[in-house]
Amino acid sequence: MFDTVLIANRGEIALRILRACRDLGLKTVAAHSEADASLRHVALADRAICIGPAAATESYLNIAEIITAAQLTGAGAIHPGYGFLSENAAFAGAVENAGLVFVGPSAAAIRTMGDKVSAKRTMIAAGVPCVAGSEGALPQDEQVVRAIAEAIGYPVIVKAAGGGGGRGMRIVREERALMEAVSIAVKEADRAFGNPQVYLEKFLEHPRHIEIQILADKHGRAVWLGERDCSMQRRHQKIIEEAPAPGIAREAIAEIGELCARACLTIGYTGAGTFEFLYEDGRFYFIEMNTRVQVEHPVTELVTGIDIVREQIRIARGEPLSFSQEDICIQGHAVECRINAEHPYSFRPHPGPVERWTPPGGPGIRVESHLYSGYTVPPHYDSLVAKLLAHGATRAEAIRRMSGALGEMEAVGIATNAPLHGILMEEPGFAAGGFDIHHLERLIEGGL
Ligand code: ADP
Repeated sequence: MFDTVLIANRGEIALRILRACRDLGLKTVAAHSEADASLRHVALADRAICIGPAAATESYLNIAEIITAAQLTGAGAIHPGYGFLSENAAFAGAVENAGLVFVGPSAAAIRTMGDKVSAKRTMIAAGVPCVAGSEGALPQDEQVVRAIAEAIGYPVIVKAAGGGGGRGMRIVREERALMEAVSIAVKEADRAFGNPQVYLEKFLEHPRHIEIQILADKHGRAVWLGERDCSMQRRHQKIIEEAPAPGIAREAIAEIGELCARACLTIGYTGAGTFEFLYEDGRFYFIEMNTRVQVEHPVTELVTGIDIVREQIRIARGEPLSFSQEDICIQGHAVECRINAEHPYSFRPHPGPVERWTPPGGPGIRVESHLYSGYTVPPHYDSLVAKLLAHGATRAEAIRRMSGALGEMEAVGIATNAPLHGILMEEPGFAAGGFDIHHLERLIEGGL
């Protein structure tokens, strides 16, 4: 079995993976772009190797280069993190074919669950409730498309089968806007995801985003680690996540959690994964599965005490899960704020040199960040620079701790959305909990 893991990612998640490897006594290789030589994990890894220029297409998305880097450095496994190649079945397959271990599910499982259309079909077969929609990708025939939308009932949402990151979605409220929305979506999907297939779903007006974390080993065991509420979103992108989800009965969560764990066994899914649902009027509707570790995984770690990244690597090594469903209990409440290098109100990215970085601390606070004083945030990548997490005995305590942490945090030189988070921590709708996915956009429209 492997003793060295190549980290095919950057930023906070690369550092997170490095720490998990260290905990397990494994060596690490940091594969980085030319723009990322000064990243924290590059300095800390046992070895570092440059895989290409700043542009992600030539480095973090360059399959051949990453595999060569693993071979050159003697790494036996590749951890893809999130984003980049993490949900790319061709990459997972190429890693397997090179005789290396992909830290994640099999290429076949990624292919099935990474494509939203085939994921929905699989989930329906596994008895998991889904949002009403077209059965499969939309056909060419305009009349048929109109009939499908009519049958679902307006409003509908056009989504890309290969979509991700909250992109490639269009809401259609009436028939006369349908065909134009579909044709734009097809073009966008082709350009952005290399897959022109789109499908239709009923557009739910006031759902919450609730997701179930699962872990499945290679010995036929799967567990669910409770839920996360990720309803605080802007443009379909999460900005605050929490666990447990306020106001939802534990029995309802357990029922859907069991279905997810069982679905993993049906699909032959292994590793960490997340089933995403919309939750409206007391019902769950599956929308997609993420076949990788998620940005918000530490929220679950805080309330369960389970290290998801470590388990992911253990599973990749062929080890059985070290606990069973009965061992998992939810303790207290956790909240995560995503700190982006952007203007807090215009949301324009604001990379650049960090003159001074002072992370917050104290009881119940956890910081996941690659920032340090003197580091320069490059303009080429995602704007996420830190994740602040607060854990408390109650939701109110977690929120109070988060407010304090936001006040303590200092990132001089770059703009961050910390002030926006500070406002949200005090906002009555957030304080009450259980708001829907449009809550933040309504607040922004209303001038906060
Ligand atoms: P992505 O892979 O890009 O994240 P998802 O399918 O997970 O796409 O959807 C992202 C977000 O878009 C959801 O959290 C929700 O806010 C919104 N959304 C997706 N499908 C629907 C739907 N049928 N009705 C209402 N909102 C939706």
